[in-house]
Amino acid sequence: MPIRQLPSTLIDQIAAGEVVERPASVLKELVENALDAGAAVIEVDAEAGGTRLLRVRDDGAGIPADEIPLALSRHATSKISSLQELEQVASLGFRGEALPSIASVSRLSLISRTADAPHATLVRVEGGVRSEPEPAAHAGGTTIEVRDLFYNTPARRKFLRAERTEAGHLDTVLKRIALSRFGVAFRYRHDGRAVCDLRPALDRASQEARIAALVGEQFVEASLHLEREAAGMRLSGWIGLPTASRSQPDLQHMFVNGRMVKDRSLAHGVRLGYQDVLYHGRHPSFVLYLELDPARVDVNAHPAKHEVRFRDQRSVHDFVFRTVEAALASAGPDNAPAPLPARPMIGSTGGMGGSAGRLALGEASPAYATLSRAFQDTRAVPMPEAQAGEAPPLGYAIAQLHGVFVLAQAADGLVIVDMHAAHERITYEKLKRAHDAGGVGAQPLLVPVSVAVSEREADLVEGAQEQLAALGLQVERTAPERLRIREVPAVLRDADVEALLRDVLSDLMEHGVSQRLEAEVNEVLSTMACHGSVRANRKLTPPEMDALLREMEATERSGQCNHGRPTWVKLSLAELDGLFLRGR
Ligand code: ADP
Ligand code: MG
Repeated sequence: MPIRQLPSTLIDQIAAGEVVERPASVLKELVENALDAGAAVIEVDAEAGGTRLLRVRDDGAGIPADEIPLALSRHATSKISSLQELEQVASLGFRGEALPSIASVSRLSLISRTADAPHATLVRVEGGVRSEPEPAAHAGGTTIEVRDLFYNTPARRKFLRAERTEAGHLDTVLKRIALSRFGVAFRYRHDGRAVCDLRPALDRASQEARIAALVGEQFVEASLHLEREAAGMRLSGWIGLPTASRSQPDLQHMFVNGRMVKDRSLAHGVRLGYQDVLYHGRHPSFVLYLELDPARVDVNAHPAKHEVRFRDQRSVHDFVFRTVEAALASAGPDNAPAPLPARPMIGSTGGMGGSAGRLALGEASPAYATLSRAFQDTRAVPMPEAQAGEAPPLGYAIAQLHGVFVLAQAADGLVIVDMHAAHERITYEKLKRAHDAGGVGAQPLLVPVSVAVSEREADLVEGAQEQLAALGLQVERTAPERLRIREVPAVLRDADVEALLRDVLSDLMEHGVSQRLEAEVNEVLSTMACHGSVRANRKLTPPEMDALLREMEATERSGQCNHGRPTWVKLSLAELDGLFLRGR
């Protein structure tokens, strides 16, 4: 065949292959256009999973009548005009491809009216052929109607799934977009039935109500709100408590400058923030908003713009990691993300940092033997004298149950503590602190281990030598493709050194920074903590139990054990009353 120029409709259809995968991708493009036009109210109607009809109506700026034909032609956009603008684009669209692509594979009609136009203008496109503009009735804003998607591309049509599946994809897109713009009202009907009607959510309570409506009430109830700004970046939103983790990464919503993205590095940063509070194989849930200068993000990395690239990926990753980690660390009793106020310490060991108390690693309390004889039972002990208002959040111990649980009376109910889990967390945090305070003791290897690597890996290690040394890992390059490990962190001296280095290397390759060592060290500490914590069936004295409660209050992340299971629960007086059908 001779070489020839493709007809313009075919070019659009080829472009549609990239942008328009299914009805949900059409919906995404149309709603994004409405948002870019500054709409305050967006109404969506779909029929048959969007295959028969998708209609998006907005009250945005509208398109001037004489520009409508342009809006429908390829590579025409009002959003950027130069490379420089592309590099700092703040709008969701900028490629000028969506409308012509959609129009080339559907029956499309567009009605639009700007604020100063005497009337609206209607244009239809079918099979790439555009009708003459004609006057029409419409309030300020735009309505785009897409019928019979893929009617002229049977091969594509075959790839569509059952209507129900396509409708599910529409829901997902709408959910994500509604999460991305709290200020915009969304109304969505499918086959004439109202699916959702969301009003603008401007304060936190109504934002949480919107999230509850979109992703579920359980998430909102078991989540923490966070907000932090540093180095020109701002991260805000909600993260699920570790105890509300999921078996699938299916509740993870990340928005970068209001754009929903799937970004491995960001997801990894969040995950890392959970590193010691999540049980292996569980996934955190989150709805997070990252904002930064658009010039620091390259959004032109994917035709459907699902992916972005950060110009300084490493600092973004670290910022996300540290913010999530700090928010989780401060989630103590009451899940208050604020540091706990000072409170009376009764029977206390003097808190963290203090001299090793009776709950220290593996140590048996001298008072234990005597007191445990006097306290063989689950009988209540007298309450320490404290005024009601002063009771610490976890209250005072009243009994130990079956050698496993500590029962405590708090100001507003009954607290039940899993003593092993709680102690394990406390010991672990203590070990970590000691470890941090003393630096990572490095242990020279008797016989340095030589490891064959690629040249690129060796380069990476060479560049990160100082950082690795600070973590206790001393590595040198002995040949272009060979590394030698001389020292490892003391706590890891029995670890498989080569495997450790390989894991560190893959972190370096992927994230430019290795949290791996830190994680490995913590893993060892966590194992030690488990061995060093009170076992089930050990009788604790009341002062020991109170000491445990006070330490929990003073310990970061004490709400979960190292595996993300809860360490305590509270039954409020109201809940207790409810159990006994007692009206208060
Ligand atoms: P892009 O969004 O990448 O610019 P599109 O093909 O999606 O490309 O849209 C082309 C142009 O049509 C946009 O740049 C915008 O000027 C205009 N447009 C599309 N939809 C709307 C809308 N709902 N309201 C106002 N203008 C719109
Ligand atoms: Mg667009």
